[in-house]
Amino acid sequence: MNDKFRKQFPILEKIVYLDSAALVQKPLSVIKANEEYYSNFAVSTHSPDSLLGIKAVENINLTREKIANFIDATPEEIIFTSGATQSLNFIALMLKKILKNKEEIILSNYNHSSNMVPWIEISKEKNLKIIFLDNEDETNILNNINEKTKIISLSQVNNSLLKKKNLRKIYEECQKRNIILINDAAQAALSEKISLKQESDVVALSSNKMFGPTGVGILAIKKTLLDKLEPAYYGGGSVVSMNDYIWHHNNTNESYEAGTPNLAGIYQFSKAIDFVNQNIDEKAKKYLMNLSKYLYQNLKLLKDIEIISKEEDYIAVFRFLKFPSQDIVSFLGHNNIYTRSGDFCAKNLKFLKQNNGYIRVSLSYYNNKEDIDKMINLLKKEDFLGFL
Ligand code: PMP
Repeated sequence: MNDKFRKQFPILEKIVYLDSAALVQKPLSVIKANEEYYSNFAVSTHSPDSLLGIKAVENINLTREKIANFIDATPEEIIFTSGATQSLNFIALMLKKILKNKEEIILSNYNHSSNMVPWIEISKEKNLKIIFLDNEDETNILNNINEKTKIISLSQVNNSLLKKKNLRKIYEECQKRNIILINDAAQAALSEKISLKQESDVVALSSNKMFGPTGVGILAIKKTLLDKLEPAYYGGGSVVSMNDYIWHHNNTNESYEAGTPNLAGIYQFSKAIDFVNQNIDEKAKKYLMNLSKYLYQNLKLLKDIEIISKEEDYIAVFRFLKFPSQDIVSFLGHNNIYTRSGDFCAKNLKFLKQNNGYIRVSLSYYNNKEDIDKMINLLKKEDFLGFL
């Protein structure tokens, strides 16, 4: 990517940011959209009997259409949430109402905690069984299906070790056996095509991993499934009539979006989707792959290092044999270089906790070789030992 692209991210002039698997930085068009929204359209979508009210509804509908196109869904399948975490909690609560005693859920231990704990909690309430898998190859997943399996929840791309999985193949089997497949696509959004239509029944996304604002996300549910589900949250905008204990919602996606949505965030998200559509193409993906190889090759030259990610992975996971990973990450952080240590929210993946943990360096399209050189040079320096 060229300098013009990188210059759209003002924060990158101040820090060396190598933690995009946690949160992706924002371009100027998204930053400016916040001011634009509050200066021009800041009225509720629940009061559409006015010029600005109509505009507010148009903004939200336009964003719904854009994200639907992006993930191969229809606008009526899109529900706005506060992020992938809320989306996954939300779908677990909705499905809880239709799951029965002793039915089974398959989870990968590579899943983010937000795609583990909601299922663990509903399983305790409804006496469900969870199959936790350390090996998420599709054959292993398919081998663990039985007549009691009702849900499989995976992430299309993990936020630690990048492993390819054939969601379409898993989904074909799920469709034959009436199993609901849930795709946490938070990490996939900038690197792979996401398809609600062909690869799952449910998609969860976070705008903050797509150059968009924090506090906005998507829960996409296939219409045929959505029609069978009741909302799990209740409030303004989702109730059409009430008579004491009896109330009704209509069957639109707004029924699942109780309360005032993050309207400014949704407007910014719309600009973020435009930014992705305009910039993240095959050429950009090739750039990221070459940069990833450069990172790997330079890490390999460091002394006493174990790298467990692959050469072409834009998320590098490694450790120094002689030093705890958290100390290294803290050393880098105090030098304004942002990386991550720990288990990367994959808390049930036991091997990540061994050997004093691992370090994660995650690249995005705005990084360049200089970012990598700065980190590598610092890791090579003598005062690294002094800091520890
Ligand atoms: N799933 C995955 C794979 C993620 O990488 C993340 C964010 N790191 C989440 C879920 C949770 O996203 P959020 O914190 O935006 O809700």
